[in-house]
Amino acid sequence: MEFQKTLKKTIEINGTGLHSGQPVNLKIKSAGAGEGYIVRRVDLKPAVDIPVKVDNIVDTTLATVVGTKAATVSTVEHCFAALRALGVDNAIVEVDGPEFPILDGSAAPYVDKILDAGFSIQRSARRYLKVIKPIRVKDGDKFCILRPANGFSVTYSIDFDGSFPGAQNFFIEVTGESFVTELSRARTFGFLSDVEKLKSIGKARGASLENAVALHEGKVLNPEGLRMKGELVRHKILDAVGDIAFVGLPVEGHLIVHKGGHEMHRRLVEALLSRPDAWVVVSSADEKPLFTPIPREFGRVVAAHG
Ligand SMILES: [Zn+2]
Repeated sequence: MEFQKTLKKTIEINGTGLHSGQPVNLKIKSAGAGEGYIVRRVDLKPAVDIPVKVDNIVDTTLATVVGTKAATVSTVEHCFAALRALGVDNAIVEVDGPEFPILDGSAAPYVDKILDAGFSIQRSARRYLKVIKPIRVKDGDKFCILRPANGFSVTYSIDFDGSFPGAQNFFIEVTGESFVTELSRARTFGFLSDVEKLKSIGKARGASLENAVALHEGKVLNPEGLRMKGELVRHKILDAVGDIAFVGLPVEGHLIVHKGGHEMHRRLVEALLSRPDAWVVVSSADEKPLFTPIPREFGRVVAAHG
């Protein structure tokens, strides 16, 4: 049996908000078994908790924004991609402003901190949402499909209709290990003309070559170039992993996306959850024998959050 996990220690991350350009401080703390992910605005009195679920996605135009009537928080997707991919089931993310820090535009800084903090094994069995019938959403030539499969895998294609940076596609079986090595370092990207437009309306104030791949007239403007082949499509998969975390449980299925983005990912999660005939919730306690020994590296972990 696989057990739920949370963090062994609180993580602190300081950075800059992409849109505000202001300093942001974030803490990721452990949470009890079955609690899932919660975003907490600690700069407000009283603090506001925003459960990470698809009904609380309030905007997807430039990033994934979660909120309730009381408060919103932008750009949460890279953090939740890292938590989900590394198998953290339960966490509270405290932030002292309206957006998560953009850091280097990738999920790598989150991955490093999570691995440093380590995991605490909880006393409850991990649960999965297993897809048993395909779900599709479509918007013009864009589409997302989630099909039954073992594990969680993604096939993603992007296409700028013949113009730079052209078509890219990538398939990956998403595991903690493959996320770290193949996806986590892929940075967000944007066209310089779009960034200039955003800055003129007071957005993207913190955007720079330090936190995004900038594309302009057939070229990558960052002096260091791309970090890897297919960095752009890999980043789209990273975003999808973060957005699919809004299902609230790890998903077993094969996600196929063409020309997607946060809004298509959100619509897919919404469509999935509105079709209870298309999935089952499986407990790892039902699938494997009970009392599987806890791996040795977790031997000293106290199940403090059972
Ligand atoms: Zn992103």
